[in-house]
Amino acid sequence: MQTQLAPEYAARPEGREAEAILRKCVHCGFCTATCPTYQLLGDELDGPRGRIYLIKQVLEGAEPTRATQLHLDRCLTCRNCESTCPSGVQYGHLVDIGRKIVDEKVPRPLGEKALRWALKEGVPSPLFTPAIKAGQAVRGLLPASLQAKVPTPRAAGAWPARPHARKVLMLAGCVQPAMMPNINTATARVLDAVGIETVVPPQAGCCGAVKFHLNDQDGGMAQMRANIDAWWPLVEAGGVEAIVMNASGCGVTVKEYGHLLTHDAQYAERAARISALTRDLSELLPDLLPGCRAACSGPTRSTPTTRPARCSTARSCAAAWSCI
Ligand code: SF4
Ligand code: SF4
Repeated sequence: MQTQLAPEYAARPEGREAEAILRKCVHCGFCTATCPTYQLLGDELDGPRGRIYLIKQVLEGAEPTRATQLHLDRCLTCRNCESTCPSGVQYGHLVDIGRKIVDEKVPRPLGEKALRWALKEGVPSPLFTPAIKAGQAVRGLLPASLQAKVPTPRAAGAWPARPHARKVLMLAGCVQPAMMPNINTATARVLDAVGIETVVPPQAGCCGAVKFHLNDQDGGMAQMRANIDAWWPLVEAGGVEAIVMNASGCGVTVKEYGHLLTHDAQYAERAARISALTRDLSELLPDLLPGCRAACSGPTRSTPTTRPARCSTARSCAAAWSCI
C-alpha cells in the first residue's frame, strides 16, 4: 500500500516503521475473516483492514477524530489477523504506533482518562491482590454486575519443593496470582514432574502490556527493563532453558521485548536474548509429554482405571493433557 507520510511523521522512527508495514498490505481483506471485533460488529472500520486504512490516513496528515480513536481502542490486540495475512503484515506493531499518534492528537474525556489511569496504575500495582481479596470477602454483597468480575477464591495449591538441575524462569504476572493463583503452581508442578525446576525471581513484575496498551508506552517499557534486570543475572549465569509464560498476553509481550527495546542501546541486546528464550508453556508441552507420561508410570491416551500412587502431578497434568 503506497503511503506518503506527512512531514511530521516522516521524521520519526515510528512513522518510518509504520510505512514499511503499510507497504506490505495488499488490501486483500483475508484478515477480516479472523478478526473477532469485525465478526461481532460487522463494521469494516472495526476490522484490521479498516484500522490499517485509518492509521494510513492519519500518517498521511488526516486529522484523527474520536471515532478514529474508538475504532483503534476496540481492537483487542489479539493479533489473530496476523495469522491469516498472506503478506506478513505486522498489524500488532502498526496498531501500537497508530494508537500513540492518534492519542497525541485526540484528547480523551476526563472520565475516560481517569478510568484508563486507574487501570494502568491499579492492575500492575501491589495493591491489586489485596483489592481482589477484599472484593472476594464482600462478593455476596456486591451488585450482580460486579460479582461477575470478582472471581471466587481458589487455593493456589502446593509449589513443588524439589530442586532440579534443569531450570526455567517463570513470570508470575500481575493479575494471575491474585485471580487464578492455581495456574502458576500447576505449571510449576507439571515442570517438576518432568525434572525441571521453576524459578520466579521476585523482582520481576508486570510484563508491561497493561501500561503499554493503555498508551503509557514509556511506563510499559520501564516495566520491561525492570523484568530484564530481574532475569538477566540468572540468564547470564547460564543454565536457564527458557522463560516460561502461561498467560498468553504476557507471553506475546515478552516475546516483543527485543523489538520494543531495539532502539535502546543499553537494553537492546539483552531484550533480544530474553525474547528468544521466552516460551509459552504450550510450546514446551510436546517435548515434555514423554517425561510426564513416564512420571505417571505410563498411562496412555485411553483413560486409566487406576492412577499409580506415586503420580502426584495428575491434576496439573490433567489440565494440560488428555492422556490422564
Ligand atoms: S488484533 Fe485482533 S481485534 Fe485487532 S484487528 Fe487484529 S484480529 Fe481484530
Ligand atoms: S490480510 Fe494482510 S495484506 Fe490482506 S488486507 Fe489484511 S493486513 Fe492487508
